[in-house]
Amino acid sequence: MGAQVRAISFIEERARALMERYAVREIRIPILERIELYARSTGATSDIVEKQMYTVERRAESAGEGQMVLRPEGTPGVVRAYIEAGLDRSDPEQRFFYCGPMLRYERPQKGRYREFYQFGVEVFGRADAACDAELLIMIDDLRRELELQLKMELNSLGCPDCRPAFRQAVLDYGRAHLAELCEDCHARLERNPLRLLDCKTDAKLAEGAPNSLDYLDDTCRKHFETVRDLLTRAGVEFVVNPRIVRGLDYYMRTTFEISSTALGAQNAVVAGGRYDGLIAELGGAPVPGIGFAIGLDRMALALLESGRKFEAAPDVAIIALGETATARASQLAHQMRQERRLAVEMLSPDRGLKALLKRADRLGARFAVIIGDNELERGVAQVRELAHSRQSEVKLDELPAALASDLRPG
Ligand code: ATP
Ligand code: MG
Repeated sequence: MGAQVRAISFIEERARALMERYAVREIRIPILERIELYARSTGATSDIVEKQMYTVERRAESAGEGQMVLRPEGTPGVVRAYIEAGLDRSDPEQRFFYCGPMLRYERPQKGRYREFYQFGVEVFGRADAACDAELLIMIDDLRRELELQLKMELNSLGCPDCRPAFRQAVLDYGRAHLAELCEDCHARLERNPLRLLDCKTDAKLAEGAPNSLDYLDDTCRKHFETVRDLLTRAGVEFVVNPRIVRGLDYYMRTTFEISSTALGAQNAVVAGGRYDGLIAELGGAPVPGIGFAIGLDRMALALLESGRKFEAAPDVAIIALGETATARASQLAHQMRQERRLAVEMLSPDRGLKALLKRADRLGARFAVIIGDNELERGVAQVRELAHSRQSEVKLDELPAALASDLRPG
């Protein structure tokens, strides 16, 4: 237990450092939002809005304030905050990242939870293909840094000019295969036909469906070409997959999904795309946008699956036997932590030496420091290097420095 949490924190730290290099600023968005926000952005026919949102029970006196929900995703909240701050008009070009829990009513299983963590990036005010490529290169940077094997899949969904013809073609295809559609696709065919393309129930049917790339107009085709060209120049590996439509209404042009080869069924670890119409749809100026979200829990699973270890072992476990020894040991522990930057765990003084040594071993500490009455009188401690069962006596006054030079040489 705990390894997944440490892996999540590790990825988060790396991702935060990456944000500095890409000049992306943090935004903290609330967990509670009005339900309309998601119906208008994520889309009324998306899985998220149709069946995955947690609504919050209201007190009678707040009934007039409208229904609130626990956020199922980050993008709409970031866009709302951006518009409310007036940035869409005063200073539209902005880059934000957020990190925190998302909540969805799901059937819990490995890699799929009802509360999970996302680290997301949103870029507003950039419509150019270089921006799309930059985000994908950013994800690839993180992949390299984490030494993860990931598969990047790209698609283009076209724009409001060329997408309707594509949508119609998929709709016609769906109508022609009505009897073969799964329950979900059948129910939403007329309202959201594109979902048929990423139907997990019947992949075969999707294979025969129209290809979005065949319907791109010149501008969209050029845009997609430039994205691919920039990625190739940057040495980013990707494949084009015309089945990547994403479940949400707001996507257009570039969409992408990044999955781990180390995970089973729940293998998508990053997803995102361009959403140029969303900001206006939510009441803002017509500013383009693009973003992605990393599923931190799943990416952590992928890291662990690839054999990475996330130990939480302290450098030093201190075993103090008796009250006076404990007082002196507390001082030494503080000194080691503060002056020498060592990771130090004081073990409970209520157990015997043998049990405590066992515990120090189980914690994976490099050194156990033993201070009993006898040692205290002589102003020394027994220092045991646990892996080698080597023990030596060190003067208490010299202990922090001695341990530090062993643990952090140079
Ligand atoms: P899926 O197809 O697996 O349901 P999704 O399309 O619902 O994913 P997005 O809404 O695009 O996922 O979220 C982006 C990322 O967040 C996903 O690629 C995944 O890594 C992670 N994610 C989504 N839902 C969950 C969940 N219930 N538990 C854990 N991680 C999740
Ligand atoms: Mg989902």
